Amino acid sequence: MSYSNSAQQALKEMPAPETAAAGSKAMSVKFDIQPTATPTSEKDRAAKLVDPGFGRVFTDHMSIVRYNQAKGWHGARVESRANFPLDPAAAVLHYAQEIFEGLKAYKRDDGGVNLFRPDANAKRFHNSADRMAMAPIPEAVFIEAVDQLVRIDRAWIPGGEGSLYLRPFMVASEIFLGVKPSAEYIFAVIASPVGSYFKGGPAPVSIWVSENYTRAAIGGTGAVKCGGNYAASLRAQAEAIDHGCDQVVFLDAVERRYIEELGGMNVFFVFDDGSLSTPPLGTILPGITRDSIIALAKDSGMRVREEPYTIEQWRSDAASGKLKEAFACGTAAVISPIGKVCSASGDFLISGGAAGAVAMGMRKKLVDIQYGRAPDPHNWIKKVF
Ligand SMILES: *Cc1c(COP(=O)(O)O)cnc(C)c1O
Repeated sequence: MSYSNSAQQALKEMPAPETAAAGSKAMSVKFDIQPTATPTSEKDRAAKLVDPGFGRVFTDHMSIVRYNQAKGWHGARVESRANFPLDPAAAVLHYAQEIFEGLKAYKRDDGGVNLFRPDANAKRFHNSADRMAMAPIPEAVFIEAVDQLVRIDRAWIPGGEGSLYLRPFMVASEIFLGVKPSAEYIFAVIASPVGSYFKGGPAPVSIWVSENYTRAAIGGTGAVKCGGNYAASLRAQAEAIDHGCDQVVFLDAVERRYIEELGGMNVFFVFDDGSLSTPPLGTILPGITRDSIIALAKDSGMRVREEPYTIEQWRSDAASGKLKEAFACGTAAVISPIGKVCSASGDFLISGGAAGAVAMGMRKKLVDIQYGRAPDPHNWIKKVF
């Protein structure tokens, strides 16, 4: 079954691109904007924004676009955030055809709002849809859905080091228990204000090396952002917590020695010669933070290797002092220094358990670009306002 036909169909079905307002991208799509009749009061919103934590507070609206084979992508709307009906036989509830993305809107000091590399999220979402045999949403529609939601819920973007976390996702909604790619999908974007992930700077995390469970195998879905990967990682994450660790790190599924990634973050190693290394793409999720760190490191003249690295080597390099730092990275937490590695065969510390200077420097570089405090040499920022 070919989905490229449905993508072309989708583009045909979307209303013709508008000539966009000054300052925004030329390619845009018409969303029907229906502001909520019951907006949160300013007072209630202010109370919710005091300490929003992560992923529990939501804005007033959502973007939604539907797909079926007859109409392609249609009915693009921004509307009041609400339950949407799903039949008990909807395919996603049985066979987990579901993908998602995560990106953030940042408030600049001048009051404007930045998105960071939304085109990269749109592209990855397209790849995820391909792998999960789902109808890919045109990348311009994905970006417009995010952009319009940020516009209407602008008042929900926290100031300071907070941000508005955006969660685009797509579920298979066809009512059918047969095992096949769904013929219908719901794409939506919801938004959640988040505080600074770490108050007073990121505390080093401890990680548990999972020897009983793997995350991804060659030919599997490790490289796509699907909910199923997370479902399969939760038992290992629970094991990490049971051992007093913050996060789990997975090894490769073949030799069970090569470091892959955490449940939801990529990983970097910093060596005494100033070079960086990170596991190669393939079975890991191609993180946009990972890609950005590689680019920024190369800009500053650091050598970066994308190469396999074993847990034994990690342990011995930490002991010999050849390994100076390790850190995890992803959109939600940006960069988390790794202070301690625990496993069934013993624990070891990294940089004495403290946050390393390279990790913290890289974090500042990235965050300064995201908030518009530093130049943006790679054109990563899309200004919403
Ligand atoms: C989303 C995700 C990451 C990080 O990707 P970013 O684009 O940097 O946010 C890393 N690993 C997994 C498994 C993920 O789902």
